[in-house]
Amino acid sequence: MTISGPTAALVIPAPAPVTLPVDGTTARFPVRRVYCVGRNYAAHAVEMGHDPDKEPPFFFQKNPSNLLSDGQDFPYPPRTEDLHHEVELVVALAGGGRDVPVGQALDLVYGYGVGLDMTRRDQQAALKKAGRPWEAGKAFEHSAPCGPLMPVAQIGHPAQGAIWLKVNGDLRQEGDVNQMLWKTAEIIAELSTLYELAPGDVIMTGTPAGVGPVRRGDVMHAHIAGVGDLMITVV
Ligand code: MN
Repeated sequence: MTISGPTAALVIPAPAPVTLPVDGTTARFPVRRVYCVGRNYAAHAVEMGHDPDKEPPFFFQKNPSNLLSDGQDFPYPPRTEDLHHEVELVVALAGGGRDVPVGQALDLVYGYGVGLDMTRRDQQAALKKAGRPWEAGKAFEHSAPCGPLMPVAQIGHPAQGAIWLKVNGDLRQEGDVNQMLWKTAEIIAELSTLYELAPGDVIMTGTPAGVGPVRRGDVMHAHIAGVGDLMITVV
């Protein structure tokens, strides 16, 4: 019997590393995990039928390979007739740890981006009703479009500013980053009590109200003041 270590030859080709573009450089940000915050804006929690005063935000995950970057088109996924947009502030970590204090959490951040938590709402609703995990509603191919990361050194830590999404020029989602129930530092601190965070972790911080469906041919324009714009076509 032969036992090989982690540096041994691979029996199949290694999957391509997942990376995100970074503004102002050709170097890219390597992604380790993708965490998401659910119901982090009160108005969105209400539109989903929940009471934000009774239920705090929570976490779920997407797969790094679900990221869609560099402005590529978004292929309409299978097994849904109710595909929703959710515009979100994306936080990318350059550091990690466990039980990170709120006061030190922002020191871990490399930069921020504009992202979309694309959701098969019909799948999610059926899974929620059955008391099952959400993966099929959330963690599917290309379900996490993300614009280029803006380093903290360039833009600081966005704590307020408009966050909106237009579909074919019509305003659908509108809010302010300062409406996040858990602020960026609180998200990182809370997440680090559940998981050991590490460089390369990416966090989608939740969406403001106004989520709704898109169809093939639609152009989504997501914007976060001080962070940037992301234009994605559904094909
Ligand atoms: Mn979301």
